[in-house]
Order: sequence, then structure tokens, then C-alpha cells
Amino acid sequence: MKSTNSTTTLRRRRATLLRRLRSLKPEFLRGSLIERYKRCGKAGCKCAHGRGHGPKYYLSLSIPGGRPEMEYVPQDYVEQVEDYLANHSTARRLLEEICEINRELLRRREAL
Ligand SMILES: [Zn+2]
Repeated sequence: MKSTNSTTTLRRRRATLLRRLRSLKPEFLRGSLIERYKRCGKAGCKCAHGRGHGPKYYLSLSIPGGRPEMEYVPQDYVEQVEDYLANHSTARRLLEEICEINRELLRRREAL
């Protein structure tokens, strides 16, 4: 947040960010989509020499202090899950910037 911006500019920017945040559909998923290939272990299967069968998709969610939780994502859901993840990143970016503006207002001892 540039400290050269006027308080009015910051408030306007915050209002814009809030409008964008509100315009998002509530289609959020947190985590990341990962691809996995697996060797089936059957004798003579071509996968023994390749990277394996797949890709299979999983939604991986990191848990503080624990192992990530994995959710199998059927192929038909992959695109939707990607959209939901992207939507979450957008929401997070908007929220972060709003917080940054509020922090700057606090520094200036302005009304929040
Ligand atoms: Zn195989």
C-alpha cells in the first residue's frame, strides 16, 4: 500500500475491492489440485515401463501440523474444482488488499 495515496483514494480503492469480493459467486475450494499416476502392478501391463495409469486427480488440502488431506476428484469435476480454487485465490487476494488498506488507515490514525 503506497503511503503516498490519499486516505480518500484508499477508501475508494477499498470500496472497489469490496464490490469485487461481493460479486464473486460463493464457489470456493481451498487447496491445490494434484495429478497422480499409478502403476497397477499387473504382469505385462504397459504401465510398468511408463509413468503409470492416469492422471488421477486429487484435491490436496494442507493441514497445519499434519499430513495434507487428499480428496479424490473424478475427471468430470476437474474443471469445476479448478474454477473453485481460482475463485478462492481471487477472494483471498481481494481480502488481503482490503486488510492492507485497513492497516494503512490504522497507521494514519484514521477511522477504519
Ligand atoms: Zn498397469
